[in-house]
This record gives sequence, structure tokens and C-alpha cells, in this order.
Amino acid sequence: MAPDRDVTSPISSGTRGTADRLEVIVIGGGQAGLAIGYFLAQQSGKFVILEAAGQPAAAWRERWDSLKLFTSVGYNGLPGLAFPGEAGSYPGRDDVVAYLSDYPRHFELPVELNSRVRSLSEVDDGYRVELDDRAYTAEQVVIATGPFQVPFVPPIAGKLGPDVVQLHSIEYRSPENIPAGPVLVVGGGNTAFRSPRSSRARTGSISRLARARPHCHSASSGAISSGIWRRRA
Ligand SMILES: Cc1cc2nc3c(=O)[nH]c(=O)nc-3n(C[C@H](O)[C@H](O)[C@H](O)COP(=O)(O)OP(=O)(O)OC[C@H]3O[C@@H](n4cnc5c(N)ncnc54)[C@H](O)[C@@H]3O)c2cc1C
Repeated sequence: MAPDRDVTSPISSGTRGTADRLEVIVIGGGQAGLAIGYFLAQQSGKFVILEAAGQPAAAWRERWDSLKLFTSVGYNGLPGLAFPGEAGSYPGRDDVVAYLSDYPRHFELPVELNSRVRSLSEVDDGYRVELDDRAYTAEQVVIATGPFQVPFVPPIAGKLGPDVVQLHSIEYRSPENIPAGPVLVVGGGNTAFRSPRSSRARTGSISRLARARPHCHSASSGAISSGIWRRRA
């Protein structure tokens, strides 16, 4: 491994990640990639987890400030390390970021940050994985690049005038993002029901549009909002 490569934990020399030829490459260091890494670490083979972002828990860092999970503490732990907190409580975004940052350190998983995979191709004896500055070959590759990577905005959004402020939930951080006034939330899932909740005091009325009956988990209501729309003042 190059000495200036950013890793979440030291990788002992002569073991995982030190050679360009590996047994397993995991692409993506989110929950799925880390959980797979935990099990790979129980075996003796060389592997590496390549993570595009510069910090662990990348997906969670991009979510809004007041986010509370819809899954309680008992359901949030990855293999081998319980999620901290009182049983039955619902952690916040920063709790998940802390946990997912600690997890690879705890198990000394070979996560290489700032390592976006650009291409994956089959070669004679396995797979070739190319990054901007280097390439690996491996016998097996696990793609754990996650869901929710590309925001969906319904086409009708393009037909609205400039007087309607439009915001995809990925851009929403806190009530300050939304000017005062009525808000229309499009979508009927967890994000749709949770993200604007903190905005209610600031904005006044919140209406929701969903294609189907909202499907929501546990303590809250319902999935992914496509956007938050309100008329510009
Ligand atoms: C708003 C919101 C709230 C949620 N709340 C909950 C909840 O309360 N409870 C729950 O159980 N689930 C929740 N989820 C779902 C949960 O976040 C996902 O199921 C989980 O993050 C999926 O983990 P993952 O590892 O598959 O993907 P991710 O966490 O998205 O990780 C994928 C990783 O791959 C990296 N990556 C992508 N492309 C490349 C590449 N080319 N090269 C290298 N790395 C790459 C990304 O940077 C990322 O770190 C929520 C989702 C959203 C959107």
C-alpha cells in the first residue's frame, strides 16, 4: 500500500492489502462493505475495502442534522460489535457516523479511503479493479456500493416556475434550508415523513403527496421523499 494512502486503520505489512494481487476486493466501505470485511478478517486471505469517500460513514454524513433512525438500537449493530445506547432507543445520524467510524478501527479492517473504483473487468485469473492512481487484481470482488446513490427528481419538477423553491431531500440539512411558508413534500416513505418534521415550526403547514399509501417503519411514518417544494417569497 502506498504510504500516503488514507486508511482508517493501520494495515500490518505482509498481510492484507499489501499486494496488488488480492483474494477479495470489497468495493464500498458502508455498512455492507464493513460487515463483509468483518467476516473476511476471520479468514486468512488478503483483502481490501476500497471506499470512495475521504471519511468513514460517507452515506450518513450527507444526511440531515436531526435524522433519527427508524430502527432502534438493537437492530443497528454490525457483526461483532453492538450498537451503543439504551435498548429501544432510536439513535441519531451522528451516533451512526461515530459507530461506523469506530467499527473498522475496532477490527483493524483494511479500509482504503479516497479510493473510488473507476472500472471493473474480468481477466483470466479473476477481476481487475481500476482506480485513478492504481489497479488491483483479485480472485473475487464484492460490490457494496449501496443504494440511494442517485437522487430521483420526478420530471414534473422541471415544469414548475422559478417561484417554487425545490429541494431534494439529499440537499436538506435543517429547517434553515426551507424558507417560511407552506411546504409540499413529494413521496411517502421515511424521509418524506421525517425530514420535514423539524421544519414544521418554521414553515407552518406541511402537505404530502405520495403515489401509494405511505409505507413507514416503526416509530415514525413512511420511504424516500423526492423533494420538498414551496413557493418562493
Ligand atoms: C435518509 C435515510 C435514512 C435511513 N435510515 C435508516 C434507518 O433508520 N435504519 C436502517 O437500517 N437503514 C436506514 N437507511 C438505509 C441505510 O442507510 C442503507 O440501507 C445502508 O446505508 C446501506 O448500506 P450499504 O453499505 O449497502 O450502502 P452505503 O451505506 O450507501 O455505502 C456504500 C459505500 O460505497 C461507497 N462507494 C460508492 N461507489 C463507490 C466506488 N465506485 N468506489 C468505492 N466506493 C464507492 C460510498 O461512498 C459508500 O460509502 C436509511 C437511508 C436513508 C437514505
